[in-house]
This record gives sequence, C-alpha cells and structure tokens, in this order.
Amino acid sequence: MTVHTDASKYLDPKVSAFVSGKHEMLIGGKWRPSVSGKTLDVLDPANGKVIAAVPAGEAADVDLAVKAAREAFNGPWSRLVPAARAKLIWKLADLIDQHGLMLAQINSYECGKPIGDSRNGEVPFTAETFRYYAGWATKLNGEAMTINAPGDWHAYTRREPVGVAGQIIPWNFPLAMLAWKVAPALATGCTIVLKPAEQTPLGALYFGRLVEEAGFPEGVVNIVTGFGEAAGAAMSAHPDIDKIAFTGSTEVGKMIARAATGNLKKVSLELGGKAPTIVLGDADIEMAVAGASSAAFFNAGQSCGAGTRFFVHRKIYDKVMSGVAERAEKLRLGAGLDPASELGPVVSQQQMERITRLISEGRGSGAEIVTGGERAGDVGYFVKPTIISSTTPEMAVMREEIFGPVVCAMPFDDEDLETLAQDANDTEYGLAASIWTNNLGAAHKLAAKIKSGTVWINCHNFNDVTMPFGGFKQSGWGRELGAQALDLYTQTKTVAIRLP
Ligand code: ADP
Repeated sequence: MTVHTDASKYLDPKVSAFVSGKHEMLIGGKWRPSVSGKTLDVLDPANGKVIAAVPAGEAADVDLAVKAAREAFNGPWSRLVPAARAKLIWKLADLIDQHGLMLAQINSYECGKPIGDSRNGEVPFTAETFRYYAGWATKLNGEAMTINAPGDWHAYTRREPVGVAGQIIPWNFPLAMLAWKVAPALATGCTIVLKPAEQTPLGALYFGRLVEEAGFPEGVVNIVTGFGEAAGAAMSAHPDIDKIAFTGSTEVGKMIARAATGNLKKVSLELGGKAPTIVLGDADIEMAVAGASSAAFFNAGQSCGAGTRFFVHRKIYDKVMSGVAERAEKLRLGAGLDPASELGPVVSQQQMERITRLISEGRGSGAEIVTGGERAGDVGYFVKPTIISSTTPEMAVMREEIFGPVVCAMPFDDEDLETLAQDANDTEYGLAASIWTNNLGAAHKLAAKIKSGTVWINCHNFNDVTMPFGGFKQSGWGRELGAQALDLYTQTKTVAIRLP
C-alpha cells in the first residue's frame, strides 16, 4: 500500500503564506504573542513535519483574554440590539463562505482530513451554523406569567446572556466545533474566550481575521492558542469566566467539571462515545454496508459519534462484513490535501500509537483482525482501516473510545430488541447509535430503548444544525445545536411586580 504523504503542492499560495507566516493570538481586538513568548509547533499529520508555530498561551494570556471579554460584555457588546448582533453573525457566515477554500485547506492541512470533507462538508456546515444562530439572536424572548397570589401582579422572565464564555474545542472537527460553540454564544450576547486544540489552532486563528473583518467590537471574540494543561486548565478554573463549554475526551471533561467548581461556572460537556451500529435482519444490505463503513471510517474514525461496535444479524453478517471489509481495503489513504485521498492520517503520533496499542491488546486477548490492524507506511500517522471480530464485551477495544478507523463486529442470532438494546447500552458512553432496518416498529421501539443522545435510523453521523446533539451517561452534559444550545448561554431572570 503506497500512501501519499506530502500534498503541500496542492496548497493555494495564499494558504501557504498564511500557514508559514507569523501567528499571534487575538485578544481584545489586538494580535499578540504569548506573555511568556513561548510557542508550540503545529505538525502536518500526513508526514510529521512542522508547518507552523503559534503562541503557547498560559494563565497570564487567559487573564488578558478574560479581561477583554468582560470589558466587551459590559460595554459595546451589551449595547448592541439583537438585530445588530444578528447582522454581524450573518456577515461572519458570508465571510466563512467567501474564504471557504482557504479555511478548507487550512483545516485539511492541520488535521489531515480529506479536502472534500472540509470543502463540501465542514466549511459549509460551519457557515450554516452561524447563519442559523444569527436568526435566533432576534428571537430570544422571555414569557409573562399568570400569577396565583391574590392582588394585582405582573411577572415576566428575561433571557439574559450568561456572560463570558470559555470554549475549549478539539482537533477532529476544528471548524465545526468552533461554530457549534461560538455561534450560539454570540447570538445570545455572550463574549468569548476560545481555545482551539493545540494540534489545530490555525483554522481558529484564520477565523479570528474574519471576526475582525466582520466588524465585531474588540474583545467579543478572543482566541488563545495553547496546551490544554496550561491555557485550558486556566480557563476552567478562572474566577471571571461564567460558563465553560468543552468538547473532547471524557477524562478531560471530568477535570474541567472539577476545576469549574471554584466559581460554580456553568458547564456543558460533549464527550466521548462508543456508538453501536445495529443492523437488523431485514436491512437493505447495500445501504447498510455503505452506512456502516462510513460510520466507522469517516474522518478516520475520529468522531465522537463514530460507529465503533457493529451488531449485525447473523443471517446477513457475512454479506455485510465482507462488504465493509472490501470498502475498507479499497480506501485510498493519503494526505488530506490530496484530492485523491479518501482516508487521512490520524491527528498525531500519540493517537496513532494509542490506536495501534489498543488493536494489539485486543489481538492479545483473543480478538481476530479481519482487515487492517496496523499502521500504514512508516511516514505520517496513518492507520489502516481495521475490522476486529471475536471480541468479548470486557475487552478494551470494546469499552474504550479508540478514536481511530477501527470497528469491532459481532453477529447476533435473536432479534430480541430488549437484548439488543442491552448489548448496545453496555458502555459507559451514550452519545449516539444507529439502527439499520426497514421495520418501522422495530426501529422506533429500539430507538426508545437505546440510552444515547442521538439515534440515527438508516443513517449515521448525520448532524443538522437544527438537531440537538449531546450525550447521555458519561458522554456529557447539555445539548449543542438546535434551539437547545441557546439554553447553554442564557440564564433566566424572573421579574415580579406588585401593581399598586
Ligand atoms: P482529545 O482526546 O480529543 O485530544 P482532549 O480532551 O485531550 O481531547 O482535548 C480537547 C481539548 O481539551 C483541547 O483543546 C485540549 O487542549 C483541551 N484540554 C486538554 N487537557 C485539558 C485540561 N486539563 N483542561 C482544560 N482543557 C484541556
């Protein structure tokens, strides 16, 4: 298998100039280096080469950003009427579209995903998310209550912005995750300190330029680049951040929840998953094969909703699994920037090593590798799409979130929905699941029994900006997207008036 690991020739010269240029953080409307002067390297995961250095922000930088965000919250941002906020957010969406090619290339360069997924998927979705929440800015109303007490009263609620929002995002969908957090926060009138993942800060910094161009008042959006243990931890514990929104691992989510207790800031967490893909006996095999493959291998499996445990009815198991294996073996691995690549590298050496270690441990405890099972090539962080069979529920490959192109497959004989749901729910996570069937009754009954924030039927990894997304169990707190995301950034004030 040859893997194309250097695709920098596809880079637009403007993107090259941006990436290799000097990078600073956006704080209070000014671009500045970290207070310590330290930087961190950004790598191309297709070959491990350093492509940029960005400021390594720490607690002192977070302090400056929070101060700027607080001033903007108390000052110019709070004076803008909702329609003016909506206009700015809409303008930002237009700029994202206009700069779509640049953003897509930066995104694929730093996180490795195929350029088509960035250009036709993530970037338009990012713009759409801003547009959707621009519409909400003018629709955040309270209610008037009818009071039971004797006398004359007027009581109503106001939906007020929570204040300064700290937002910590991961590297798997750097732009979409940014939009899911930044857009509703802006719509509700919050100000923001955003920390992109250390592996993928460049898209966020480019986005910072668009924020400036759109004309947001200084300090409304501040972007601090840096490591999680330094900048992220300082944000979670910061006494003047009112709300923290996080997407990432369950382990870090728990640390953030603990750190947030200092000032009891509001916390929302979108954490890990171990989604089941359940293929019932009557499923359309062709559709199930395509869907299950994409569930497992889309974004090299680096998606919290990835379908990582296949439960397939025995009578179609061989057909489905040989179809998925055939697709896995045909996927063209290569650098995300190369338009021919269908599966990019995983994001880092550390992730690649973790994935291959989990696969080896599974093999060591008796699981069988149907296809893949190892690193691809010896340059960059490529992992062959992998199918594992003969697993048992206690194996680490079945329990831990792998975050790589790896799926465990099991046949089932009895289509008893209760047992199927029990097996699907046998995980500490509860983010997503998919069911493949044409049996309407079974689909709805099973959907009700599955303990997860999203259940997809005859589709997987389908996110629409209108649909709330988030986790049951240890997959998180709160829901992003849809109208529910607005609740994360607003608080209700009750005003009760005695009418003399
Ligand atoms: P992943 O496993 O997907 O890399 P992480 O949970 O490690 O996810 O990282 C997601 C985001 O959380 C990144 O922006 C990272 O910098 C940040 N992060 C990591 N550790 C901490 C921490 N201790 N406190 C706050 N943020 C952190």
